[in-house]
Amino acid sequence: MSERLLEVNNMKTSFYTHVGEVQAVRGVSFNLNKGEALGIVGESGSGKSVTSMSVMGLLQYPGKVKDGNIIFKGEELTKKSQKEMMAIRGNEIAMIFQDPMTSLNPVYTIGNQIIEAIVRHQHVDKKEARVKAIDMLRTVGIPSPEKRVDNYPHEFSGGMRQRAMIAIALSCQPDLLIADEPTTALDVTIQAQILELIKELKDKMNTSVILITHDLGVVADVCSRVVVMYGGLIMEEGTAEQIFYDPSHPYTMGLMKSIPRMDTKEKQRLIPIPGTPPDLVKPPKGCPFAPRCPYTMKICLEQAPEYTYLTPEHRSACWLLHENAPKTEVDNGVRKEVIK
Ligand code: SF4
Repeated sequence: MSERLLEVNNMKTSFYTHVGEVQAVRGVSFNLNKGEALGIVGESGSGKSVTSMSVMGLLQYPGKVKDGNIIFKGEELTKKSQKEMMAIRGNEIAMIFQDPMTSLNPVYTIGNQIIEAIVRHQHVDKKEARVKAIDMLRTVGIPSPEKRVDNYPHEFSGGMRQRAMIAIALSCQPDLLIADEPTTALDVTIQAQILELIKELKDKMNTSVILITHDLGVVADVCSRVVVMYGGLIMEEGTAEQIFYDPSHPYTMGLMKSIPRMDTKEKQRLIPIPGTPPDLVKPPKGCPFAPRCPYTMKICLEQAPEYTYLTPEHRSACWLLHENAPKTEVDNGVRKEVIK
C-alpha cells in the first residue's frame, strides 16, 4: 500500500483585510502519497496558491489558516511554530515559484546559494557542500556545472535560473516539492524541458510533487491525480485520465476547452470561460460557478452542491450529478440534457 505523506482536511484560509474577511480557501481536503504527483489547477483567485502557501506555513499577515488540519508525515503542521516550520521548509518540503529572480539573491553566486541551503540543512562543511552543489547542477542539466557554479543569477537564462531553483529546492532531498506555476514565465520549449526535469527527478528521488498551475495542459504529463479548484473550493478531483477524458464538472469542461489538444486532427477554437470569479469577501451560498455555468439551475444558486463520487477516486461538486437532477450526458465535451 502507498505511504501517505500529506493529508489536508477541511482547511480554511482567510485574509483579514480592511474590506472584510477574504475567504480565499473555504474548506479543502486532499491527500498525497509518497512519490506521487498531484496537480492543483484553477484560474487566478481560485485558492490554489493560497492552499500551497498554507501548507508551507508561508502565509503572511493578514492571512491565516483559520480551520482544518494539515498533516505531514503524521505531524500536524498548523500547530508548529515559525521556527519549527523553517526547519521543515527547505529540508522536508521545498517550493519553487514562477519567477526564480524573486527567489534567487542577485548578489550571491548560484553556487553559494545552493551551498548555503546544503550547509544549513545537511550539516556538511562548505567544501563538501560545493561538491554536492556542482553535482546537483549537473543533475538538473546545467552544462559545465564546475564553471557555472560561480556564475551570478543574471548570467543564467530564464530556463537555467529555474533549473538552478530546482537544484536549490532538491539539494536537501525534500519529501515534498511544491511547484507554483514553475513554467509560466518560460517559452514553450523550455517549459517542456522543465516539466520533464521535474518528472525525472520525482521518479529518481521518489519526491512527491504538488504542481500548481492555471493550465490543465501543464499537469497532463507530470501528474497522476488532479484537483480542480474554483472560488476557494475543490470542484472536481480525479486521476489525470478521469479529469482529461471523463470530466464531470462544467468548470473542468470549461478549462478543457481553453487548452489546445494534440489528440484531434480537427481545427479547434480555444474558448475561454466567460465571466469572472466570485467575490470571496461575500462568497455565494450556492455553487460558486453558478454565474458562469451554462447549466445553472435554481438549486445551484441556493445551496452548495455536495460531492458526488463517480468512482472512489473521482468526485465532483455539481448538482447535475445528483440523483434527482435532470438527466444529462456529455456530448463532445459539452454536457447536455437528455430529452426522452
Ligand atoms: Fe453549474 Fe449548478 Fe453544477 Fe454549479 S452545481 S457547476 S451551477 S450545474
